[in-house]
Amino acid sequence: MSKVEVYYPNQEGVSEVCLRIRDESATLEDLLQAWQPLCDDSSLFKSFAPGNHAPCKGCTVNCCQSAYVIPDLIAFKRMAEGLHLSHRDFLSAYFQADKLAVGLPRMKPNPCIFLQNNICSIYPWRSLICRFYICTPLNGATEQLVYSLTWTGITATIVKLEEAGLLQPDPGAGMSSMDMLFNDLIVEYRDKPGVRLFMEADTYRDIALLPFLDSYTSELWQPCP
Ligand code: SF4
Ligand code: SF4
Repeated sequence: MSKVEVYYPNQEGVSEVCLRIRDESATLEDLLQAWQPLCDDSSLFKSFAPGNHAPCKGCTVNCCQSAYVIPDLIAFKRMAEGLHLSHRDFLSAYFQADKLAVGLPRMKPNPCIFLQNNICSIYPWRSLICRFYICTPLNGATEQLVYSLTWTGITATIVKLEEAGLLQPDPGAGMSSMDMLFNDLIVEYRDKPGVRLFMEADTYRDIALLPFLDSYTSELWQPCP
């Protein structure tokens, strides 16, 4: 049995995508492997997919056209390494200068700098925010857990870049309403213990899932008997 299971609408009576953690050693990598079939599944209802049923690959109403992507720390390091760039050079070539000035490492958007012919050119290295976004209804606790993992990973990127002196916000730079929203989230997540778990990890396999459960998401922990 898989350490993490994803259940689809109409399977076992569920009406939304939901996940269950079945083993205490489950990691973020296990969750990502269980989640990936959602992107490829054309039987699943997707709000923005052609005809509401299509794989994400090559989607023409592509969320990558306008996404506000700040990579989690594992993805950030993997992308820079894959492109053979230092973190400093990666930031200056692929990230929006005006967002760096307000302390937010947003990848160049509209469309995403990595989107080519409606396909992600760095698909195996893409960020948690890209991996988890799916335009289909999610169970509340499931959505909260993937949201928490994503924002913890993003906050780890920001803390790491700040510690390395690569992110030095200009106090005079203005923020958009979206920047302020994201900035508030980072303030909220900055002191969570999960940030250090991301900073100490080399891969998603190094990040255990159980420390990310809280009173709301604890229903997802359903160990095998
Ligand atoms: S999640 Fe994005 S790529 Fe996938 S169907 Fe929806 S809009 Fe298209
Ligand atoms: S990194 Fe890839 S998946 Fe993420 S927004 Fe850019 S093109 Fe889309």
